Amino acid sequence: MVAHNLGYPRIGSQRELKKACELYWSGKTTYKNLLQAGRNIRQESWTLQKQAGIDLIPSNDFSFYDQVLDMSLMVGAVPERYHEVIISKNNSELDLYFAMARGYQKDGLDITAMEMTKWFDTNYHYIVPEFHKDQPFRLFATKVIDEYYEALQLGIKTKPVLIGPVSYLLLGKEKESGFEGIDLIKNLVPVYLEILKKLDRLNVEWIQFDEPFLALDLTEKQKRGFTYAYSEIRREFPHLKTIVASYFEGLRDNIKLATTLPVCALHLDLVRAPEQLDEVLAYVPDKMTLSLGVVDGRNIWKNDFSKSLAHIEKALSKLGTDRIMIAPSCSLIHTPCDLDLEKNESQLSREMKTWMAFAKQKLTEVSTIKGLAVPATRPEFSTRLAENLWAIESRRTSSLIHNPTVKERVSRITDADASRTNPFAKRKAKQKSELKLPLFPTTTIGSFPQTTEVRSWRAKWKKHELTDSDYDRLLKEETEKAIRWQEEIGIDVLVHGEFERNDMVEYFGEQLSGYTFSSNGWVQSYGSRCVKPPIIFGDVSRPNPMTVSWSSYAQSLTDRYVKGMLTGPVTILQWSFVRDDQPRSVTTNQIALAIRDEVSDLEKAGIKIIQIDEPAIREGLPLRKSDWKTYLDWAVKAFRISASGVKDETQIHTHMCYSEFNDIIDSIGAMDADVITIECSRSQMELLDAFAEFKYPNDIGPGVYDIHSPRVPSKDEMVYLINKARSVVPADQLWINPDCGLKTRHWDETRKALIEMVKAAHELRSPVEENAV
Ligand code: GLN
Ligand code: ZN
Repeated sequence: MVAHNLGYPRIGSQRELKKACELYWSGKTTYKNLLQAGRNIRQESWTLQKQAGIDLIPSNDFSFYDQVLDMSLMVGAVPERYHEVIISKNNSELDLYFAMARGYQKDGLDITAMEMTKWFDTNYHYIVPEFHKDQPFRLFATKVIDEYYEALQLGIKTKPVLIGPVSYLLLGKEKESGFEGIDLIKNLVPVYLEILKKLDRLNVEWIQFDEPFLALDLTEKQKRGFTYAYSEIRREFPHLKTIVASYFEGLRDNIKLATTLPVCALHLDLVRAPEQLDEVLAYVPDKMTLSLGVVDGRNIWKNDFSKSLAHIEKALSKLGTDRIMIAPSCSLIHTPCDLDLEKNESQLSREMKTWMAFAKQKLTEVSTIKGLAVPATRPEFSTRLAENLWAIESRRTSSLIHNPTVKERVSRITDADASRTNPFAKRKAKQKSELKLPLFPTTTIGSFPQTTEVRSWRAKWKKHELTDSDYDRLLKEETEKAIRWQEEIGIDVLVHGEFERNDMVEYFGEQLSGYTFSSNGWVQSYGSRCVKPPIIFGDVSRPNPMTVSWSSYAQSLTDRYVKGMLTGPVTILQWSFVRDDQPRSVTTNQIALAIRDEVSDLEKAGIKIIQIDEPAIREGLPLRKSDWKTYLDWAVKAFRISASGVKDETQIHTHMCYSEFNDIIDSIGAMDADVITIECSRSQMELLDAFAEFKYPNDIGPGVYDIHSPRVPSKDEMVYLINKARSVVPADQLWINPDCGLKTRHWDETRKALIEMVKAAHELRSPVEENAV
């Protein structure tokens, strides 16, 4: 039996890589220093894994930016626009690589970055390969060999990790029509063979191909791609020990395909899909080894050893010890590095720490589970088993986790709780006479620029260098300025500006029971960017109102309406580490009830318009299409529970910031928000077609300008866009707003842009007919 790991966080336990890259990008450190920082991180993680008892340690899981971009460089899929970067400017290969990731504005060149998108259903973002018809591939970069060699020098024989050829192609985007990514498989595989030949010369024993697509919906052609690629590899290198790793889903209808691939080992994610084990065992051919991914690579909870051992025992009787590998469910890059670094007990209590394992701790779990699974070594590990049983039991029964009142309330949720009293048409009429808003009402999405100053107040306040009352006073002043300024330029529905919030999920997490936080639990989001997700450990409830004082204060300053501003239950769930002891839907319902109470309290405090942001609904979509409906049903219902406790006159807004609505438009309709504001400007209102076709009945604010860029749009541009919108959506359904919050912008450009936006609304209002398209 072998204990192995699929990949280790490369950002460094103190975010060393982030710091080194950012220094290098700003020209404050040398190329040599950056390379050394990379070497240090690799050496540390290899040593750590060795000490933890991992038999097969991965290499090439390190990356200066992204593992998919590493592959693009390896196979020479460098889009033409970057060729000048390396040829004419004497840049290094790494400079070219960073140019692809981040764009290149230097030496008179202005080259855009490659696109970035989410890595399956995680919060990690990868750089999307760009493919053309007849795309040539050639061996261009040899990082995988260099790192294997580097580890060898340190006395560690690693298992190089590559993204498998099929998944690499399916991760890319076709830049012209008339072909599919998978058509390129015959061009691509020879480059893999070339790399393998070089690795083979260095006596590589094991090699891991990550093929997450093996657990997703596949076309026949894609399936043939798998068989082709791995048959070629087997034919050229019959002695090489190959592992194909599936993760994030079960193999389901691809079990036959996966078990007939000519590979030595197949990795299964038994955390996400434990049920697949029985069927895989029924199909697995003689000689094939199974790698059992029993330790959760996506969450921070301690492994339940007895549960893992039950899986392994099942496999043991069929395969014997020699054909079993023990591993985390997927690469550990989705978990923070090291729980031992959490020293602040007021933040993460000692008791809660006994329930958790970060990446480093998960390594020890993997080797311990192996120790327990092998009869000969079992006695050595018996104390650890006892400790584990105790920790699991203590978490299961802890009074910190269980709140009977919350559980009871969730069990009593009815369909009526998830429905407004009257249908939209009736509500709209009542809201019209109550609110008396003009045609094309203007608003913003919630946040205003968080200046360095505002952030420095918060930092000082957290360090107790600023008293509560001083912090409060400063924020109030800032809020008042924002209100006055919005009045001055003539926005119709104001916002308070969210100056008191650090992050739209953390702010609520900090005030909800059932939430805790790490001090150093950073996880890579993309490149050098990391996030520190809050942790939901127990039943969620709201001990006190969370936003009412800020909204009431802002409303007290003005005669115009100020929107209450909340984050929705699905987004709060999606951007946190969640409990693994109950379904996500149950946790979401608990959060939904807390938000519902907040909405009611805002209404009682006289707030007439309340926005519940749900930017993360779409990214929670399951990876397999057949699971979408179940998810969308509970996600939409949770939103409705949070929004439906108010009277008809109270106007509920929601906001989403992504531009692919077509496939979930029914569900967006079913959310039944009175107004939805959405990102639109980059796709020039095209996505409104989905709303038009669906005859979306409620009000819509299609973003009229892109807040992701400092560029100030002109009034005319925005008039043009709204007129375009009017050609598909009736004018009295339209709102005018930017496409997302303005937190990351500067005041200067924000003011200019919003002044233009208000001018656009005025022009559109008078006279209506003249502007119609
Ligand atoms: N209300 C939030 C803001 O304006 C919405 C942010 C988001 O959509 N991601 O910052
Ligand atoms: Zn947004």
